[in-house]
Amino acid sequence: MSKLSLGTRLFISHLLVMFVGLGSFIGLAKFSSPKMFIIRLEKLEQQGLFTVRSARTYLVKGFETAWNNSAFWSVIFGVSAAGGVSYLVSRRTIKPLNQMKEITQKLAQGHLEERMPDSNIPEWDQLGKSFNIMASSLQDVEQRRRELISDMSHELRTPLTIMRGYLEELANGSIEGSPDLYLNIVKETRRLERLIHDMQELSKAEAGYLSITLYPINILPLLTSLVDKFSDQIMEDGPIIKLECPTKLPPVLADSDRIEQILVNLIGNAICYTEKGSITVKVWQENKQVWIAIIDTGIGIKSEDLPYIFERFWRADKSRSRYSGGTGIGLAITRRLVELQGGKIEVESEVDKGSTFRFSLSIA
Ligand code: ADP
Repeated sequence: MSKLSLGTRLFISHLLVMFVGLGSFIGLAKFSSPKMFIIRLEKLEQQGLFTVRSARTYLVKGFETAWNNSAFWSVIFGVSAAGGVSYLVSRRTIKPLNQMKEITQKLAQGHLEERMPDSNIPEWDQLGKSFNIMASSLQDVEQRRRELISDMSHELRTPLTIMRGYLEELANGSIEGSPDLYLNIVKETRRLERLIHDMQELSKAEAGYLSITLYPINILPLLTSLVDKFSDQIMEDGPIIKLECPTKLPPVLADSDRIEQILVNLIGNAICYTEKGSITVKVWQENKQVWIAIIDTGIGIKSEDLPYIFERFWRADKSRSRYSGGTGIGLAITRRLVELQGGKIEVESEVDKGSTFRFSLSIA
């Protein structure tokens, strides 16, 4: 029985139900009907309507033959009709399952674009739709995996090529070793280290493995200490950094380590892309959220570049950012960290005027 397909089992179970129903009907009717018929005849006799004693056996026999004939034909028709309907129903029910089996096999072979067609059986349709959502997310993950590998190999190739170039020239004597040259090699090695570190953080953030513990925190001390730390690092002729924060601010539901990571990324970028002017860290409350904005008066970002700014490895000016040591991963991590804490991140920018990055946190 276990080797039978679901369709056959469904079909057999339909037939079984039908046979049990018909059998009990025939059995009951066969044994009780003649008795009831006789009782009825006796009643008629007692009332003296007519005498049937002589015709009794003949009548009962006639009834039995009529009953047997009709029962025989009703079984034949019943079985064929119910069998036919049962067969059609099981075929119709089982078809989407077979389709799903084929599509799953194709998905497993790497054809991630395969989808289940709509079904007019609501349960199958629902299952098909959920299956399609799962297939789409698989396709998405696969697409992202491919992009990530290609982006990463591209990013790793540049510092490796530079280092190999230096080392080959050193080896064949076409250049002499000097502290500057070794420092250049060290710089490229650091870049590789940073890239790998950022990649690790990003992949953890994207896969949701970053440990984030949300608890009510007061962000003012964190902001003050960060702004102080950064203003100590900025050169004298650099931009000034200031904090604009209302003294009364409700606690927010956040992870202070992650908030610090977000702010370090955003303020770090602002300093990197602002030669002079100011960087303002502004905080305000709006409905049930606290917003933190980092407003700079730096080089700004072109409006056509803004939609890509949070994508990993994206840099407005690749050569300049590479020179400044950027990996193009910072904002991708930042966005993920904000989202993991239930917030939103937005950007506004104008070339040569400055950029504003703001993100929200829920009030505890
Ligand atoms: P990176 O490590 O290169 O800074 P990010 O993901 O942090 O990577 O930033 C991506 C790109 O966005 C940067 O290379 C830069 O072109 C642009 N960018 C980020 N912040 C700013 C800013 N405050 N002003 C101007 N451009 C910015």
